Amino acid sequence: MRMMETGTVVIGTGPGGATVARELAKKEKRVVLLEKGKARDWSVGNPLAYAAMYDIRRSRQGILVRRGITPGGSTMIYSGNAYDPPSFLKDDFGIDLAAEVSEVKEELNIRPVPDHFYQNYPGTRRLVEAAGELGHAMKPQARFIDSALCDPHCDKCLFGCKRGAKWTARSYVNDAVDEGARLVTGCDVREILHVNGMVNGVSAQTDDGPLTVFCHRVVLAAGGMGTPEILHWSGIKGAGTHFFTDPMAVLLGEMKEGSGTFREITYTFADESRKGEFVFGNVGAVNAFVAQVAAKNFSALPRGARMKKLTGMFVKLCDEPTGEIRADGSFHKAFTPKDEALMAQGIEAAKAVMVRAGVRPGTIAVAKGIGGHPGGTAAMGRVVGTDLQTDIENLYICDNSIMPVSGGTPPVLTLIALARQFAGKLA
Ligand SMILES: Cc1cc2nc3c(=O)[nH]c(=O)nc-3n(C[C@H](O)[C@H](O)[C@H](O)COP(=O)(O)OP(=O)(O)OC[C@H]3O[C@@H](n4cnc5c(N)ncnc54)[C@H](O)[C@@H]3O)c2cc1C
Repeated sequence: MRMMETGTVVIGTGPGGATVARELAKKEKRVVLLEKGKARDWSVGNPLAYAAMYDIRRSRQGILVRRGITPGGSTMIYSGNAYDPPSFLKDDFGIDLAAEVSEVKEELNIRPVPDHFYQNYPGTRRLVEAAGELGHAMKPQARFIDSALCDPHCDKCLFGCKRGAKWTARSYVNDAVDEGARLVTGCDVREILHVNGMVNGVSAQTDDGPLTVFCHRVVLAAGGMGTPEILHWSGIKGAGTHFFTDPMAVLLGEMKEGSGTFREITYTFADESRKGEFVFGNVGAVNAFVAQVAAKNFSALPRGARMKKLTGMFVKLCDEPTGEIRADGSFHKAFTPKDEALMAQGIEAAKAVMVRAGVRPGTIAVAKGIGGHPGGTAAMGRVVGTDLQTDIENLYICDNSIMPVSGGTPPVLTLIALARQFAGKLA
């Protein structure tokens, strides 16, 4: 068995773990990052190799949830939209991230992709105009994307970005390593070691056999699904319930005339007026097509449609936190009647926009709800305090599992800001 000794172990390298590791490495150097996934650079930006970074799980009730298992975590397969933190963090928990959010926006140049980018996006423009005519407001989205590096007609953001235009947490992992942190990839953490209510190490399985790392502090950031599993395996009770995942439905249809959203970047405009219930916006045709194939909607795919006419939209639901990752390893998640009703309303609103924009109603196919923001399973107020510490001394959690409910919008900016503030407070 291999053994190591360090100051802080960070488990998981998504936006939570990578940010904490980077900030701590700058301060104290004695940081070890343990990451289950492997760094497969060849898969970044390659739709066919996407699966190398991608994990999908199905609940006992048939709900699908996806995440990234690789250095950088789910940001290696995210679309790069940046939303401000949900208000409940400040209102209910006194966590004000305004300063950190400003710093991160400045550092990562987060802003909507500039207008001139869209001049050649006729399909997206038609959707935005149609939404306006129906009384909605699809507004430009702030993004973790450097438009100077981005190819505006690529639309492969979700598969990773070969050009480096999309920020991912992998760059923070690299910064942490440059600052002296040690990164162990292919390292599946199985247990957090603790004695008399205090943490003293981590044990894991690696390709080279078992590994034990002794340390005085652990920051668990294995995400909304990985974190409760590790807590269960470590005999730490209370985690796993209140699971939410923000399922997203993707619609695809065919324009009667003119071009659709083929080779137009996904998720660049959205209507957030019902945030907390659902959000809807545009999807590039290729992404929308892939979503139908993934949902096995073969019969619903537009027949004989020319790719250039295909047009996509998404509806992202803010689902109720009713799922559970249990100690026996089983995963339970069903949509509630409220979830179903809100998703149906979102889909109707998106369909109406598509039809108004010129999509043939009979061609519209809907790929229903795959989740992508797992969280809630080690929530603040239930499993951690506002200092993110568990009942075990020096065991902290810093990932999307600490959110008590979904904020209704994607969480990466919030997690980076939270991790930054948290790491700054650690002695
Ligand atoms: C398709 C898709 C699109 C998305 N688009 C957006 C978007 O536009 N904007 C946005 O803000 N959010 C988006 N998200 C959501 C966002 O990527 C995640 O919510 C966010 O990355 C969660 O961060 P995290 O730190 O909680 O977990 P993750 O990023 O999932 O990181 C967890 C890490 O822990 C590791 N891990 C898990 N188990 C173990 C173990 N046993 N041992 C060691 N390591 C382990 C994983 O490999 C992973 O690296 C998207 C997600 C998906 C799937």
